[in-house]
Amino acid sequence: MVSGLHRPTQLVIDRQAIKANIQQELKTLPQATALWAVVKANGYGHGMVEVATTAKHAGATGFCVAILDEALGLRQAGFTEPILVLGITSPAYAKLAAAAHISLSVGSQDWLAAALPVLQAGQLTASLAIHFAVDSGMGRIGFRDAPALQQADTFLRQHAEFNLEGLFTHFATADEQDTTYFKQQVASFQQMRQALAVEPRYVHVSNSATSLWHAACNGNMIRFGVALYGLNPSGAALQPPYPLQPALSFESELVFVKQIQAGAAVSYGATYHAKQTEWVGTLPVGYADGWQRRLQGFHVLVAGQYCEIIGRICMDQLMIRLPKQLPVGTKATLVGENGGQTISLQDVAAYAQTIHYEIACNLTERVPRIYLPEKA
Ligand SMILES: *Cc1c(COP(=O)(O)O)cnc(C)c1O
Repeated sequence: MVSGLHRPTQLVIDRQAIKANIQQELKTLPQATALWAVVKANGYGHGMVEVATTAKHAGATGFCVAILDEALGLRQAGFTEPILVLGITSPAYAKLAAAAHISLSVGSQDWLAAALPVLQAGQLTASLAIHFAVDSGMGRIGFRDAPALQQADTFLRQHAEFNLEGLFTHFATADEQDTTYFKQQVASFQQMRQALAVEPRYVHVSNSATSLWHAACNGNMIRFGVALYGLNPSGAALQPPYPLQPALSFESELVFVKQIQAGAAVSYGATYHAKQTEWVGTLPVGYADGWQRRLQGFHVLVAGQYCEIIGRICMDQLMIRLPKQLPVGTKATLVGENGGQTISLQDVAAYAQTIHYEIACNLTERVPRIYLPEKA
């Protein structure tokens, strides 16, 4: 996709905030617990390679991604740390992963059986590192009972093409006040892990929420995702043990300003009519940038004041009601701080009835990312 370098709309990513969030988390962890930074989906929209670079400087010693291509992207960018693909990769790519020293998540013996001939064809330079996924209640991927895990473990140990590097599970409710289901998952995982002949190097269960609110079950590695971006995994439900610093701001500026008379309509469908004489500003941001149409009626900040998004959000532009006449070129903040007021990704998500993860991931490549430096 073309990046809009000649348009005054940009995401500003504060590397120091990312660094500080990771360093804060590391302070709470025992020395022996590794922090792997989760940088899937283009680093939750923040930029995969840039986030990985800062995360490494902050003390992350590995990375997690969702798909093999993201892992290959990190290798291409020069990262030599361990990388785990959290989703299921086709066994057809087992050899590609092994050659690039990329670790794969596996949730069935069938997968190992299908990958074996792929690994056995021709020269194999390195064995394939496997993390067994245990489905302790998330219901997504992984072994669901101890005998199945045990059989796969036995199969893996009979074939030097594989090496077992990790065992993990994922919690469905770690970000909730009620810990009943969480505790059931912990118990299920503790029982399942007994099935392995030998514990692998990494046993890991914690996403951000688990590590923030249930650190006691961390194991020896955490998969630290959304919190490194300064976002509260629970939305606003639970308070993190230390303040998180949001890394992302979304900025634009007024490109057109006009006064309209009472009754005049704005945008597609003519759904908005001015109640009186009003000043209206146009911003070069739209749903093609990830600012969904459902954000009509929400606000942006201009000159420290909340300005309503009026009328339908277009593909590339949206209109706001201004408190007064303001010059073209005046800064507008869609996410972040402006004149002492702020709009958080959580505010946006709450209005759009979704989670901030989704808002951040939806910000498209058309919006350039600009990076503020981290402190040494
Ligand atoms: C995405 C993901 C994470 C990171 O979750 P956050 O809530 O962003 O910390 C950890 N583990 C798995 C399996 C994931 O898919």
